[in-house]
Amino acid sequence: MAGKGEGRAIGIDLGTTYSCAAAWQHDRIEIIPNDQGNRTTPSYVAFTDSERLIGDAAKNQVANNPTRTIFDAKRLIGRKFSDPKVQDDMVHWPFKVIPDPTDRPMMVVNYKGEEKQFSAEEISSMVLTKMKLVAEAYLGSTVKNAVVTVPAYFNDSQRRATKDAGAIAGLNVMRIINEPTAAVIAYVLDKNAISYEGKNVLIFDLGGGTFDVSLVTIKGGIIKVQAIAGDTHLGGQDFDNRMVNHFVKEFKQKKNKDISGNPKAIRRLKTACERAKRFLSSAFETTIEIESLYEGIDLFSTITRAKFGELNMDLFNQCIELVKMCLQDAKMEKSSVDEVVLVGGSSRIPKVQQMLQELFDGKEVCKSINPDEAVAYGAAALAAMLSGEGNEKVQNLVLLDVTPLSLGIECNGDLMKIIIPRNTTIPTRREGFFTTLSDNQTFVTIKVYEGERTRTKDNNLLGKFVLEGIPPAPRGVPSIKECIDIDENGIMSVSAEDMATRNKKKIIITNDRGRLSKQDIEKMVQDADKYKWEDDEYKKKVNARIAVEDYAYGMRNTIRCAANLTAADKKKMEDAFMSFMQWLESNKHAEAHVFKDKMKELETVFKPISTKE
Ligand code: ADP
Ligand code: MG
Repeated sequence: MAGKGEGRAIGIDLGTTYSCAAAWQHDRIEIIPNDQGNRTTPSYVAFTDSERLIGDAAKNQVANNPTRTIFDAKRLIGRKFSDPKVQDDMVHWPFKVIPDPTDRPMMVVNYKGEEKQFSAEEISSMVLTKMKLVAEAYLGSTVKNAVVTVPAYFNDSQRRATKDAGAIAGLNVMRIINEPTAAVIAYVLDKNAISYEGKNVLIFDLGGGTFDVSLVTIKGGIIKVQAIAGDTHLGGQDFDNRMVNHFVKEFKQKKNKDISGNPKAIRRLKTACERAKRFLSSAFETTIEIESLYEGIDLFSTITRAKFGELNMDLFNQCIELVKMCLQDAKMEKSSVDEVVLVGGSSRIPKVQQMLQELFDGKEVCKSINPDEAVAYGAAALAAMLSGEGNEKVQNLVLLDVTPLSLGIECNGDLMKIIIPRNTTIPTRREGFFTTLSDNQTFVTIKVYEGERTRTKDNNLLGKFVLEGIPPAPRGVPSIKECIDIDENGIMSVSAEDMATRNKKKIIITNDRGRLSKQDIEKMVQDADKYKWEDDEYKKKVNARIAVEDYAYGMRNTIRCAANLTAADKKKMEDAFMSFMQWLESNKHAEAHVFKDKMKELETVFKPISTKE
């Protein structure tokens, strides 16, 4: 465990426009303010003739240094330069992007008089480094580990590249988790949730440049994303631009000057508009004052919350339509949504909240955690859990990202062989080897169970399938590899492979209704304790039986294969084998010591023969 000493663990929401870090501190999760005192940090990196700037310092100088101020790296991470999305985005960036020989997009800047190229991983690593340093200053300790969040739609390559960015920043990325999952964790913790089993939660994440809706269900302690919808170009920046256009028009009308062709004036106006927009989330009216905006002329004006809403109404409507689409995709009525959780800075806009509430027929939306901090909050909770920091409440989070029960496969008749022990963090992949119980068995039935009991009949059957085509062989000879794989969304697949023929079969466990509720899980764990002695005795019994059976079959196989046996010895062994098998018929459920005695009996026959030269 990392404890509270060196090498703390933090949660980082690496956003397209803003990033946020949080950690376990003072017996709770705290959002870490940066050196400017801000709780979120722009995901911006700027290069000047003399230095490199990250965060607020980079964003603040963008008007003077547009071609060397990099942002939106998250739109590039893990993508190819030739990706149509990258080609579309590039048109809007003031900085230059070129492909490297492997088609990776590289951002080109002039830094300290030299042309430099940076990958999206490197730019993101600079933002992560900033978050790490800010956290170290705040916590008064080094930070070595982090949980980093990504959008639910990120593919493998984007997730891997994000992990790489963490490694470049000197962070051990303990886990990459989905942003909506992190938000749900924050929400569950904040609400002091007693049971969220079976609840449907809609995550409405309206950020700076992107909008993501996710519908998740908490099932078997796992947060499962059911459906996602969204728009990769809809967010706070669009609202800022609408306000910018409004003031450009106004300036033209009142001052008869067109500033639209002056990038620097536009950028200054944009900064003022973003500030005004944030203000309008709590005030009904605000002023914009920019001295000498254009040809020495000032812009002094006001804007109301109502006007801001009117300028953006079509965009807000688009958000609501996308929420409806997400519900449709999940085939869920809006009345089945138990909670609506607000995420992303732009979801602070009162009009957006009101429209969303109306869609859900007046249902209160959850805004107890600051929407732009919820993702980092959840990531920090998981980081604290994984590193052993945090209190009991956080440690109890185990149910959120681990297997709530052991998972295993039936073997030796009715015994549960555990492949993935209870409380293993997911995603995970584990293997076990099995064999046949009869001679010339050409197929095996693989039955997958969850539970803590020794006998499969006391556990919960999740699924079964048959692996055929095993070449005939004596009992115990075939080697069959069975593997259980659970991905980060909790989706479980089970495979069986005959090592001799490489013949393989795989199933996905989809039977969600067959999974257990939280109460069932708790009962099973308690039962396992209660019946431990009984179960252990049973296991000893079966194992003793299997051992003696294996011994007897080994003896029988020797009779078949060994060429130098005398006829008398062969007969002795055959008789012993046959009489043992007969005895077994009526003594299958004998006690362990009885099987052990039988073993000794067989040994007295077999040992002297097998040690003969
Ligand atoms: P990201 O999209 O990078 O995940 P955030 O979720 O932090 O980032 O969202 C950033 C956006 O939220 C910015 O456009 C910012 O202007 C906007 N925003 C932040 N606070 C408010 C507020 N109080 N009212 C309206 N918009 C806000
Ligand atoms: Mg975000």
